[in-house]
Amino acid sequence: MAKFTGSCMCGNVQFQAEGEPVFSGNCHCEDCRKTSGAAYSTFVFMNKEDVKLTGKTSSYDHKADSGNVLTKHFCGNCGCPMFTENEMRPTMIGLRAGVINEHENVKPTMNVFTGNKIESTPLDPKLAAFEKMPS
Ligand SMILES: [Zn+2]
Ligand SMILES: [Zn+2]
Repeated sequence: MAKFTGSCMCGNVQFQAEGEPVFSGNCHCEDCRKTSGAAYSTFVFMNKEDVKLTGKTSSYDHKADSGNVLTKHFCGNCGCPMFTENEMRPTMIGLRAGVINEHENVKPTMNVFTGNKIESTPLDPKLAAFEKMPS
């Protein structure tokens, strides 16, 4: 069973998760670049019931390409992006890999929205790659 712990930069928000991720991938879409400030976002999606949160996040909603409303959670004190929720998948939470301590348990299986990636971002040829989000 995989274990994940994580925290924001200042430590006000922390989580502990235990269980197998439902899915993990790298997203190169513009939303993921802007909401993270990084060249792409790696998410580890888990069942909400497997994740225990300590501290309070701030959040905002935005509409994805798909038309779904996503909620981005971040630390209101240090601004660190923490996780995302999707109204279409209310039982799941997408932890941001960058705030996870156990790097060895972060195993993305695909790159999505490669059509929107920054030219200089290399892709691991061992991972599946999709121009958009595979349906
Ligand atoms: Zn913080
Ligand atoms: Zn994305």
